Amino acid sequence: RGLTVPLGPYTVYDPKAGIYASRLPPPQVPSESVYQFCLGDVSFDDAGTAITDCSSGRIISYGELRLRAQRFGLGLLTKAHLKPGDTILVALHASIEFAVVVMAAQFAGLRVALANPDYARKELRHVYRLTKPAKVVVHSTYLRRAAAANIKTFTVILTDTKLGRGGVLSIGELLADESAAKAAQPFVPKDLGTTAYLPSSSGTTGLPKAVQISHKNVVSMISANLCTPGFIPESLHGDQVRMLSFLPFFHAYGLIGQLHLMLRMRGQLFLLRPFTPDSLCKAVQTHRINLLNCVPPALTKLTKHPGTTRAVFATVKRVRCGAAPLDAETEAKFTDLTGVEVKQGWGMTELTLAGLDPSSGQQTPGSVGCLVPATLARVVDVDTGKAVEPGQRGELLIKGDQVFSGYLSNPSETKASFTPDGFFRTGDVVVVDPRTGEFTIVDRLKELIKYQGFQVAPAELEGVLVAHPKIAAAAVVGRYSKDQATELPCAFVELTPHTSTTSKGAVAKEIDEFVRSKVSHHKFLRGGIHFVDKVPVSASGKILRKEVRAMLQALEQQE
Ligand code: AMP
Repeated sequence: RGLTVPLGPYTVYDPKAGIYASRLPPPQVPSESVYQFCLGDVSFDDAGTAITDCSSGRIISYGELRLRAQRFGLGLLTKAHLKPGDTILVALHASIEFAVVVMAAQFAGLRVALANPDYARKELRHVYRLTKPAKVVVHSTYLRRAAAANIKTFTVILTDTKLGRGGVLSIGELLADESAAKAAQPFVPKDLGTTAYLPSSSGTTGLPKAVQISHKNVVSMISANLCTPGFIPESLHGDQVRMLSFLPFFHAYGLIGQLHLMLRMRGQLFLLRPFTPDSLCKAVQTHRINLLNCVPPALTKLTKHPGTTRAVFATVKRVRCGAAPLDAETEAKFTDLTGVEVKQGWGMTELTLAGLDPSSGQQTPGSVGCLVPATLARVVDVDTGKAVEPGQRGELLIKGDQVFSGYLSNPSETKASFTPDGFFRTGDVVVVDPRTGEFTIVDRLKELIKYQGFQVAPAELEGVLVAHPKIAAAAVVGRYSKDQATELPCAFVELTPHTSTTSKGAVAKEIDEFVRSKVSHHKFLRGGIHFVDKVPVSASGKILRKEVRAMLQALEQQE
């Protein structure tokens, strides 16, 4: 690259190429598979605690986790007759079983597609069709839903009970013999660019797509995080780390940013479900938690909870927040109440976990830090695609070893997501501070709505809405609620000409109930249903989202 100028301690900028880079040295990235990287050198008699389930008090040690993962992994190959490279779809809540299942799959060289276990039928079927798994792993309580989603031509493996029904097997039935499992070697793909995980993301537009995350992506991402000064507070090493998790593991933040990170570090992970401010405060005290990962709505709830005090959070060294924007005010309020600093990072499913993250001694409130090591960025004008000067708004483009290789079986969306020189278009608008080199997220170009950190694809809700007999057209946008610190999906609906509009309240209720029966709870239309004469569409029938956002603004001004 050309001549570069430093912007603060962690960023350099090449004005000629319009490229930002991290000033931190790149990490040493081992040539290992996900399994080797996370559990490869754990001994079978390692009694150190890996995961604790806060509700049941159940604990799994590192040695047991490795043994169980290898017994189940070998069983998947020998008893369930899967082959390395096959896909299994895992739809489980964050749990000890989840960790066993995904590490078993990684041991066996399988690709793991991930789904929200609370998905409604249609949503589950969408992921199933997208990823074409050979097996599906669900909890027994979800079996009926899986069957209703037409997932019946394949074996469903339960995580617990033995049903004895044809084709349905429990983990227990699939465990390989202990001595064979101990002697077995993990399958390591020749090319570490091979897909390890298939989480879902809607990207910039349309329906959820399967994001191909490789072994190399995961290993590079965690290696880069761990060589960022202050990513883990300097005073904490290995098993001293006691991280509390209430995030779902089917999302990058929980899967990579907590589960895999902790396994690599040999830290202790404590699982809390469901999150309430009260249950969190209790778990923090009982388990002497020192690291906490949050999302903005949870942090906001904590700032309003009387239990959020310095005494309760005395052991906590750091709170990390991500997945959606956190305002500087809430950040400051939480620190005031607890004395604990909040570090806000920015990431995406397509980036394995993260692209921007604060280092020690740095972070202007409200910013999301600087580039993670070995990551490049460009900030470009939204209309022309040309680089803008530091200090000006533009779309953030990212390049690095943590960037996914593409959407599964979707070359057109993959192509549209990258520039010709290989930068990934994030769909987020940022400003880089020319003095500190820190990035601040200021807007989102893409359609995506985030409710409490969960993705909501407007196209999916619009598809559900237009299937209602009284709806001619619909557009869905995110409406920000300051009180709840999250966006809420909000629909603008054009009714069919013959629908009577005399009792709009009743029609809105009917539509709301219809949507609730079709989608999982984070997609409910909590931002309201508003009737319009015409949903603005282009000549080719595309929803004009800018105009829809203007409609929302007008509505908010009226209120
Ligand atoms: P996901 O793929 O579900 O992780 O969603 C990624 C998107 O969440 C990003 O492209 C952003 O729009 C949003 N996001 C994640 N972290 C932040 C943050 N710290 N501030 C603002 N938006 C964020």
